[in-house]
Amino acid sequence: MRASSYHINTLKEAPAEADVTSHQLMTRAGMIRKVAGGIYTYMPLGLRVLRKIENIVREEMNRAGAIELLMPVVQPAELWVESGRWEQYGAELLRIKDRHQRDFVLQPTSEEVITDIARNEIHSWRQLPLNFYHIQTKFRDERRPRFGLMRGREFTMKDAYSFDRDAASAQASYDLMYQAYIKIFTRLGLEFRAVAADTGSIGGSRSHEFQVIADTGEDLIVYNPDSDYAANIELAAAPTLIALRGAASETLVETATPDAPKCEIVAAQLKRPLTDTVKAIVLATEAADGKAAPTIWLLLIRGDHSLNEIKASKLAGFENGHRFATEDEILDTFGCVPGYLGPVNPRKPVVVIADHTVAHMNNFICGANREGFHYTGVNWGRDLPEPQVADLRNVTAGDPDPQGGHLAIQRGIEVGHVFFLGDKYSKALDATFLDTDGKPALLQMGCYGIGISRIAAAAIEQRHDARGMVWPKAIAPYEVVICPMGWNKSETVRNAAETLYRELEQAGVEVMLDDRDIRPGVMFAEWELIGVPVRITVGDRGLKEGILELQARSDEAAAKVPVAEALTAIV
Ligand code: ATP
Ligand code: MG
Ligand code: MG
Ligand code: MG
Repeated sequence: MRASSYHINTLKEAPAEADVTSHQLMTRAGMIRKVAGGIYTYMPLGLRVLRKIENIVREEMNRAGAIELLMPVVQPAELWVESGRWEQYGAELLRIKDRHQRDFVLQPTSEEVITDIARNEIHSWRQLPLNFYHIQTKFRDERRPRFGLMRGREFTMKDAYSFDRDAASAQASYDLMYQAYIKIFTRLGLEFRAVAADTGSIGGSRSHEFQVIADTGEDLIVYNPDSDYAANIELAAAPTLIALRGAASETLVETATPDAPKCEIVAAQLKRPLTDTVKAIVLATEAADGKAAPTIWLLLIRGDHSLNEIKASKLAGFENGHRFATEDEILDTFGCVPGYLGPVNPRKPVVVIADHTVAHMNNFICGANREGFHYTGVNWGRDLPEPQVADLRNVTAGDPDPQGGHLAIQRGIEVGHVFFLGDKYSKALDATFLDTDGKPALLQMGCYGIGISRIAAAAIEQRHDARGMVWPKAIAPYEVVICPMGWNKSETVRNAAETLYRELEQAGVEVMLDDRDIRPGVMFAEWELIGVPVRITVGDRGLKEGILELQARSDEAAAKVPVAEALTAIV
């Protein structure tokens, strides 16, 4: 490709609303353009990255025996009513009506449609196992779609669905996908970790997330450096907090600044009836009043206790001098989204009540921790029985972690998620096949998502510097850019650049020839922003000595390469 006939439009400034690096850099590099909140046009350079990610995912899915099809974005409500998710899904599910007032949804995932396909297409055990996938646009009406491609409303996902005869075979399909995911993220060139995870609104009994490691990630991962134990804190929340009381606490406390206890943060996570929860809140706030130091109390409540429900529970005097905060109010109070926390205001005693946002609350704790606050431990409420450390076993992914192991903590971006579904959807939609004994049996299912567009953003969050993006070769928009110095002035430079360009194209390298008449400084800055892994500078001075300059994006210094060896140095 020649830059003069391509569309390159970089910006000096990122839009004010872009508050994560990937959003800023993708916008500045002209890879995405916003159309509406959480809805973007993938511009040519951005689309190339997405296609490369898609291709790697497609190749590895095919290699693992999955079969590609394409299901629609618009799906009839009937199937969603059948599965129960029309009721359960909540506000993230975008519901639309056609001209006849019939209900439809824009798919957030495709369990319903694929199970409908399966019940019509799969008749006999002889057809199993089967794994169908597609790479398709998803829509989720996210509450705060403000991180560019990290959390879009419209985004691209690969989702696969496996069908098996029995649980053992379904487990084998799950393991196969797990292995395929390891290959995919390794090929993408990203540092990642597979962690045990919560099953969320998809349902099912077992799941793992694939997390790209990045300081700006919204998720927190707890892992044991000495064993295979790794879990999303969403799942590990209770054990982690318990661990804080015991042997493992040093790991976390180390990250705080012990000599600067500006405020205390006390957290409790209660998987208990509402009355117990309320009692604990009272105990916690009573204790808070007696303290001299300002205290922030975090009550982590897993469950569906709405604020109104809690307020209506005759919590006499509770509101006096304290503040209830919903998740939205947390944003307002602290000026940042949970997971992207800035400094906490230590002067405000706050009671935070979180419905099923344990992960966010834990991010909050650790965010505060990182700001130097002293984390004192866990208040489980005086008369509530203490959970046992042995609970740790409930969250491990197969080989239980030995009790009391030291846990480390790390931020990540969820880029993939595999679920063992069992018969959750096949039962709801009555998807059966005839088993070896001639009797109908329910299909055993698994489902497997990969956030194609989120991977592009995650790669940037993990790999960037002050000048811009630093793409892994496998997903860079172009692998090499040739920058001729004085394209319009020197025929020698033009010829050398053209020759190298032709040779690289013939060798199958994705190369950009920058034949624009712009200043070298501007040209270099633009390609550094875009993050092309290799830049070759062709100039009169070097050519006189028979050399080109080869600059790897991730290296400090450039290398001088003899013209004749340039091709082998790159390919
Ligand atoms: P999150 O916890 O970030 O909201 P999720 O758990 O809701 O994600 P899944 O239902 O597991 O997401 O979907 C599979 C994959 O789709 C995720 O692992 C992620 O990579 C991607 N994904 C989910 N939501 C979004 C989004 N709003 N924008 C971009 N990618 C997304
Ligand atoms: Mg989600
Ligand atoms: Mg998640
Ligand atoms: Mg998920």
